[in-house]
Amino acid sequence: MTPDEARQLDAQDPLRTSRRAFDLPAGLIYLDGNSLGALPHRVRQVMADVIADEWGRDLIRSWNSHDWINLPLTTGDRIGSIIGAAPGQVICTDSTSVNLFKLLAAALQHQQGRSVILSQTDNFPTDLYMAEGLARLTGEAVRLTTVAAEALSQALSDDVAVLMLTHVNFRDGRIHDLPGLTRAAHDAGALVLWDLSHSAGVLPLALDEHQVDLAVGCGYKYLNGGPGAPAWLYVNHALQGRIHQPLSGWMGHARPFDFSPTYEPATGISRFLSGTPGILSMKALEAALDLYADVSIDAVRQKSMQLTGVFVRQVASLPGVTLASPEDPELRGSQVSLQHPDAYAIVQALIERGVIGDFREPDLMRFGFAPLYNSFEEVWTAAGILAEIIGSGSYREPRFQERRQVT
Ligand SMILES: *Cc1c(COP(=O)(O)O)cnc(C)c1O
Repeated sequence: MTPDEARQLDAQDPLRTSRRAFDLPAGLIYLDGNSLGALPHRVRQVMADVIADEWGRDLIRSWNSHDWINLPLTTGDRIGSIIGAAPGQVICTDSTSVNLFKLLAAALQHQQGRSVILSQTDNFPTDLYMAEGLARLTGEAVRLTTVAAEALSQALSDDVAVLMLTHVNFRDGRIHDLPGLTRAAHDAGALVLWDLSHSAGVLPLALDEHQVDLAVGCGYKYLNGGPGAPAWLYVNHALQGRIHQPLSGWMGHARPFDFSPTYEPATGISRFLSGTPGILSMKALEAALDLYADVSIDAVRQKSMQLTGVFVRQVASLPGVTLASPEDPELRGSQVSLQHPDAYAIVQALIERGVIGDFREPDLMRFGFAPLYNSFEEVWTAAGILAEIIGSGSYREPRFQERRQVT
């Protein structure tokens, strides 16, 4: 591909104008939106107003006058519209890790006589760690079983209570067959809990249509909610009212302002709240979600496949590099992972050249492509810089070997 061809793709891109909505530093090529989304201009303004008017001036009255009290629900519904969930099934709250715990515990309690959480060996670690913590809490009455991706269907025995999977694998970007595995789990009498952290905002999802039971996801990746943005959880209407989460805080009470001494869960999705929501960070996420108001997720997915495709074509045959992501764009999310024995140093050298990706042990370089703000031209340029760094061996300089705390 030539730079002209890349520019041509940009000129034809139906999403080309959405980049202007982001505050991206000049000269930087940001390919890490799968870890922390970029800052939308709108968020800057909204945060200034919320702080001045809602917190500063209206103070505690804002719980009513600015409807802070319903923000987890209204923000949840907006996320619902991006993931194929009708209103009243998604709530914005806590972190993905905490939400995993709440939903796993609720699922296990519901599935009397079944004690296994089935997952994939290379699932995102926090998903496995939260399941381990739940197992310990129950004195190992609940057990976590992990198998390789290919062995999942056969491992759905009749003691599996819940199949817990991440839709897009964080290491290699491979996509699971969500409808197929959901059906297989149901056929085996298990519930499904999908982690959509690397899917929401870049892949078309139809949670209601595919009868997903439970799901969780991040607010700070492709949804651009900012560092540590609140996460969200989905509970299908069919299960609501029948499952109970253990972190039964007052915000999940049927009538929090009765201040009753005993807990009575709210009837709808609100019972999955625990404590007081982080209003400032949720306001930032809410403002960022505005950018999805009039884009089609199908167009986002089209562009995502094209972006990863352009990158793969330019870099897959570089010396020492192996493509770790699926070759078929239909099978990969919005990221490309490359294996190289010196992956860490190469990523550091790229960062020095203004191309931001990240490194995952032991030898993976990860590049995330955010269709709302990444252009074909910058992807082409990033691939050229990567080729230069590998070709010249400049990454071998000692300063690129030094390990930082966050990789
Ligand atoms: C990013 C990510 C998380 C992060 O969980 P936090 O509680 O927000 O730290 C969880 N699961 C998956 C699959 C992720 O990609």
